Amino acid sequence: MQNHLYTYDIPDDVNLGGSIAIDTETMGLCCHRDRLCLIQISTGEGNCYLVHFPEPDFSKSTNLVNALEDDSTEKIFHYGRFDLAVLIQSFKINIKNVYCTKIASKLVRTYTDKHSLKHLCSDLLGVSLDKTEQSSDWGAPTLSPEQLNYAGSDVVYLHNLKEKLDALLVREGRMELAKACFEFLPYRAMLDLMVADNFDIFSH
Ligand code: MN
Repeated sequence: MQNHLYTYDIPDDVNLGGSIAIDTETMGLCCHRDRLCLIQISTGEGNCYLVHFPEPDFSKSTNLVNALEDDSTEKIFHYGRFDLAVLIQSFKINIKNVYCTKIASKLVRTYTDKHSLKHLCSDLLGVSLDKTEQSSDWGAPTLSPEQLNYAGSDVVYLHNLKEKLDALLVREGRMELAKACFEFLPYRAMLDLMVADNFDIFSH
């Protein structure tokens, strides 16, 4: 894996291709309170583009926003519900054509209740992920090499996981259901942004 670190945007000459894996690091898990600090993008070929936001200035990210708003580009997340809410809120954009490895896992790996990225990597790819930097200070003006390596490792396996999960979705006859869930996911994130307290439009 090769990490490329940038500030506020990716350069003009970076070609991300038609399918990107995306993760975000924030100051915490409450998208109303906790600002975006880092976006990681993997092209699936070993390159990872890290975009650092030392300050919460989301007005200088033209290339990044163009990539996120390109409906022909597939965006793979793990627990995209959170990342989508953070991205929609920070950049005031719509994001379509998304895939979530956690949702796919919940639809097919019904033999377990363990759907974290760490568990998926271990179970489906035989890869052991080190999550020690997960709860570090992502708002720091300079990120440590350990933080950058960790951040890259959070996106670099998502294409491989998607391939494995797609095969399982087909095998179990749940691809159509999965696609409907992925299509709804950005709207689920918008509902999270509308009401802070787990607003569930499907509950009684
Ligand atoms: Mn992460």
